[in-house]
Amino acid sequence: MIRRVCIVGGGTAGWMTAAALANKLNGLSIAVTLIESSEIGTVGVGEATLPHIRAFNKTLGIDERDLMRATEATFKLGIEFRDWGKLGDRYIHPFGDYGPAVNGVPFYHHWLRLKSLGDTSRLDEYSFPIVAAEQNRFRHPAAEHDRIESTFGYAYQFDASLYAAFLRRYAEANGVTRLEGKIVDTALDGESGQVRSVTLADGREVSADLFVDCSGFRGLLIEGALASGYDDWSHWLPCNRAVAVPTASAGPLGPYTRATARTAGWQWRIPLQHRVGNGHVYCSSFISDDDATRQLVENLDAPMQADPRQLRFTTGRRRDFWKANVIAIGLAGGFLEPLESTSIHLIQDGITELLALFPDRGFDASDVIEYNRRMSLHYERVRDFLLLHYVATQRDDSEMWRHFRALTLPDSLREKIDAWQTRAYVVPYEFGLFLPPSWVAVMLGQNLMPTGYDPRARSMGDNALAARASAIRQEVAAAVRGTPDHADYIRRSAAAGSLAQRAPAA
Ligand SMILES: Cc1cc2nc3c(=O)[nH]c(=O)nc-3n(C[C@H](O)[C@H](O)[C@H](O)COP(=O)(O)OP(=O)(O)OC[C@H]3O[C@@H](n4cnc5c(N)ncnc54)[C@H](O)[C@@H]3O)c2cc1C
Repeated sequence: MIRRVCIVGGGTAGWMTAAALANKLNGLSIAVTLIESSEIGTVGVGEATLPHIRAFNKTLGIDERDLMRATEATFKLGIEFRDWGKLGDRYIHPFGDYGPAVNGVPFYHHWLRLKSLGDTSRLDEYSFPIVAAEQNRFRHPAAEHDRIESTFGYAYQFDASLYAAFLRRYAEANGVTRLEGKIVDTALDGESGQVRSVTLADGREVSADLFVDCSGFRGLLIEGALASGYDDWSHWLPCNRAVAVPTASAGPLGPYTRATARTAGWQWRIPLQHRVGNGHVYCSSFISDDDATRQLVENLDAPMQADPRQLRFTTGRRRDFWKANVIAIGLAGGFLEPLESTSIHLIQDGITELLALFPDRGFDASDVIEYNRRMSLHYERVRDFLLLHYVATQRDDSEMWRHFRALTLPDSLREKIDAWQTRAYVVPYEFGLFLPPSWVAVMLGQNLMPTGYDPRARSMGDNALAARASAIRQEVAAAVRGTPDHADYIRRSAAAGSLAQRAPAA
């Protein structure tokens, strides 16, 4: 039986893992220790999340209002993409579906049919979260499944460092021991090849049965000690740098993240309660650091609150997420650019799979193989979805966009696009994070129009379908009219931090 778990690293990954293990291993007499170094610090970015984080928090028994107050969180209904298909285009990838299915056929097929008949309505008008986001409104989903206000999920925009601090309090209160110190050495067992212990700069030695490597990009144990190897995916996703800067809050509080395509990457804008997070993710082969910073600064909509900060990364993943008695979670396991806010989610996947395959001291080889198979799929699915944004485009106005036009796609993505182009079919995945409505949002949002649609969408007469569609649009519009302003809603119902102290806009 595993008796001692050592988590190396106290960033978002380390403290999420610590909190989950403290909760889920309760009663098993397993001691969990976390080592972090304030001298090294954390990556210090990460603000946008996906709806699945709510399930993670719920299993820990975390109250949403406490979380929002502690992390300066706002609600998130999706991501607005600007200039991705063509310059001037915009669409929202919502956390929800478009309209209710008609006769068992997803509504977007019926919309494609309507469009072929000359209808000019936007698909967005059938989505409650999109219309609400466009009007800066938010409410929690309705419990009654027949209401249009029940057809969406939501996530948070928050300060990930504050989230880590929040989970630290939770984990320590639930028995996790925290050690402050810099690991300077790792001892391996000559026979098994397992990590036996780590040594801190002050000479303390910490041994454990299982190590979770949450040490960030450096992958202290998984790479430094065990040389897992790294699959570099830069040939598909070449962005390798970012420059980030916070600004003051400006304008209405949008319940959505914005990702604006640029000539050599893209810029994010994430509104929190007390500030806005901004950054430019770019590819160093197509733009210099100075020009990337200039582009970011020129496109900010409020004064900067700090100097811009540079970050470097290599897109890809560890060959083995789990090797010997070490499991890498978070940036130690891999990194995919934050275009769809997937990193914290991939941490959650790592933790979920670790709990599902929690080892015994024998470290069964089949568990290790299965864990690595599942995590590889999680990363590959996200990679394909991110790449879709760069290749489903008509842009050719810079070297980067021309690079993507000539790219050979992974087979898994090629097959997905091919199936879409004939009859608008989205091939479902095993272990796919992004469900068909997300693929529909990006493909249609970036003008990847299919030549056909599901023939079953012809089951209704033309006039009956038009009347049905109009009724859905009206239902969405009326529901959004009755939905509160996002900032007011947080002030009232989430009893939040900074926002609670600021007066509502006149
Ligand atoms: C530009 C950018 C934007 C991002 N935006 C988002 C986003 O919007 N949404 C999202 O979900 N994710 C985002 N991410 C990813 C997100 O920041 C990370 O996934 C998340 O913060 C987890 O980081 P981590 O805990 O793995 O690593 P880190 O934060 O780097 O933590 C590593 C920990 O290991 C410790 N450590 C390292 N070496 C040693 C040592 N020798 N001894 C002791 N301790 C050690 C450090 O002190 C630290 O505590 C973004 C990432 C980047 C680069």
